[in-house]
Amino acid sequence: MNTGRPTPAEVIREDVRASSAYHVQSADGLIKLDAMENPYGLPDALRRELAEIVAGAPLNRYPDPTCPALRAQLRRTMQVPDGCEILLGNGSDEIIQMIIQAVATAGSVVMAPAPTFVMYRVYAGLCRVAYEAVPLGDGFALDTAGFLRAIEEHRPAAIFLAYPNNPTGNLFDASAIEAIARAAPGLVVIDEAYQPFAEASFLPQLDRHPNVLVLRTVSKLGLAGLRLGYLLGAPAWLAEIDKVRSPYNVGVLTQLVAERILAHPEVLDEQARLIRRDRAVLHEGLARLPGVRPYPSRANFILAQVPDAAAVFERLKARGVLVKCLHGSHPSLDQSLRFTVGTAEENRILVDTLATVLG
Ligand SMILES: *Cc1c(COP(=O)(O)O)cnc(C)c1O
Repeated sequence: MNTGRPTPAEVIREDVRASSAYHVQSADGLIKLDAMENPYGLPDALRRELAEIVAGAPLNRYPDPTCPALRAQLRRTMQVPDGCEILLGNGSDEIIQMIIQAVATAGSVVMAPAPTFVMYRVYAGLCRVAYEAVPLGDGFALDTAGFLRAIEEHRPAAIFLAYPNNPTGNLFDASAIEAIARAAPGLVVIDEAYQPFAEASFLPQLDRHPNVLVLRTVSKLGLAGLRLGYLLGAPAWLAEIDKVRSPYNVGVLTQLVAERILAHPEVLDEQARLIRRDRAVLHEGLARLPGVRPYPSRANFILAQVPDAAAVFERLKARGVLVKCLHGSHPSLDQSLRFTVGTAEENRILVDTLATVLG
């Protein structure tokens, strides 16, 4: 019916209409090993503390946009160096978007290795910024020479390096990152979403590289539902990026709850320790299966090549285990699945079910 009124096709950007919304697989009734969530809940005593805090939260008021108490707690818990400023986001996804928005001009370029976290490319597209993907080398290592050439050619305003990388799980060589940081004509963002599982960080090197920012999140640590990411770096850079932040991007409940949980770092530390321990067990279990080739991981997931990834993915799902199929997303991820490290029991079910479907 032609009503004479404008249609989305006439008004919405063509590239937006041609894209699809971020798709989240339904996990109803399945063992959920697709999204790098921590499988553990919080202890009852801490939950009761949180219930009280939530009951008293001033929900009628806008949140304090500067989040002073939460930032002070983060500084203590994460041992943020004194000269570093902290900027908070609604998940680190929002911070990635803010950084790209802040550097976006008609000619600017965002650069990252490939394969890597997909949202760097997505937000570059939404900001109409050119995106240059530099292929990773053998074992998904940074190709330092290739990267330096790409920097020389494209002069990127921002470079994103996930450390460890998602979806490959490896930690890039620190000296390669330093060479990139020295050559970069703009910002270098080290995305440490998996820092609790890597036990490595670029944070201590920040004072030697003033154009480097470290991006973190509490999502993979066990608080994905809170939506809280944070950016660390020199105050002069963060003050500029702060100008593109939505005024009240971190809600009252997130601020209060995150502050209280972070005051008990031993809870999440212990969970991360269990996940690191079980990652090693899962890796061994996968490596023993015929035709399965797991890659080494410093994150809370394991990338593995399997015979016929799409079919194995469907058969696992039919048997109640949800994982991530990466086949088709990048040539180096052909026949690859990504398994989040779950509880010891979930990992055992994963390996047993894989053995059955590969049978
Ligand atoms: C999961 C992930 C994020 C997003 O984390 P949120 O804080 O939940 O938005 C960012 N970077 C990498 C590399 C990730 O894997």
